[in-house]
Amino acid sequence: MSKKKLLISGGYGFIGSNFIRSIGDDYDIFVVDKRTYAANENHLNNINLKGDYLLDICDFGELKKVFQSIGPDKIIHFAAESHVDRSIANPEEFINTNIYGTYNMLRCALEIYDSKLEDNKKDFFQFIHISTDEVFGSLKSSDKAFTEESTYKPNSPYSASKAASDHLVRSYNKTFDLPTTILNCSNNFGQNQYHEKLIPLTIKNALNGKEIPIYGNGEQIRDWLYVKDFCNAIKMVIDLNISNERFNIGSNNEIRNIDLVIQICSILDEIRPRKDKKSYSQQIKFVEDRKGHDIRYAINSNKIKKSLNWKPKYNFEDSLKETIAFYANS
Ligand code: NAD
Repeated sequence: MSKKKLLISGGYGFIGSNFIRSIGDDYDIFVVDKRTYAANENHLNNINLKGDYLLDICDFGELKKVFQSIGPDKIIHFAAESHVDRSIANPEEFINTNIYGTYNMLRCALEIYDSKLEDNKKDFFQFIHISTDEVFGSLKSSDKAFTEESTYKPNSPYSASKAASDHLVRSYNKTFDLPTTILNCSNNFGQNQYHEKLIPLTIKNALNGKEIPIYGNGEQIRDWLYVKDFCNAIKMVIDLNISNERFNIGSNNEIRNIDLVIQICSILDEIRPRKDKKSYSQQIKFVEDRKGHDIRYAINSNKIKKSLNWKPKYNFEDSLKETIAFYANS
């Protein structure tokens, strides 16, 4: 039997590239990516892609041609503008890529889905939308973790644009019967992340002798999910052909930003001690808080655990050490 064709948007970014690296050659992979600053060609070195399209998903005409020439069986939509600070400085790119770009992905996908006349081809068609826990807003310390039923309350232009994209995906499922699944995951960490994000930024700045910035008092809490665990969840969703669903995915691993940064510093102290033998934590500098900064995210992943038997299998400290070694050596 021929392999199924998987069209991946944003495959040169952080999670997309980790996902492509994780799935071996079970599928024929086609990547559509504008290759913004967050992409890196090296992320897919030595990967055998069936198709590689340098393309902005906001360009509907070109995107439609690519969809038609590939005729994908499954689509995983990672492409997005993903950094909250940039969305505060310049929301427009976020509105364009995350909302209009997602709309284009959906209408191209629907055209392909409708053109698949044989039932068995329709049966395994999927549009997987990769989204964030940030669409649910911010929790107080006493609040229960977000479930799939939590109300959308996005606070930043980034999370608002992702919320809008989730709603569009839902609408294509409800109105046009497009088989979609939305995955709302917590903060991922691992290799290949652009160094504006907390973990790579902390490592790079520490090793370059620069200040390590912490927003506000550093007490914001995030639920850190190792990217390999998230990729396993996505793989399950496509292998098991799960559609018309949504899942929250996190690691039950809530850590305050300040504690995470101190932990990174102490691992660096062990593996790359400073010349003066002082701790890297001396480079920490508290800076003005991010506007509208969410206090706490926490994810209840019971649904995917129960229905797909997924669970995070990597140990946090080992994964963090592996991640630190990756950035320290790159
Ligand atoms: P990233 O910023 O590392 O990568 C985004 C990729 O999308 C890049 O390859 C970029 O070139 C591509 N892209 C951006 N705009 C495009 C456009 N207009 N046309 C085509 N390609 C475009 O992002 P990431 O961290 O890998 O996130 C992937 C997805 O997961 C995003 O949808 C993001 O919202 C979501 N997400 C990420 C996290 C996280 O912790 N990183 C957490 C929750 C959800």
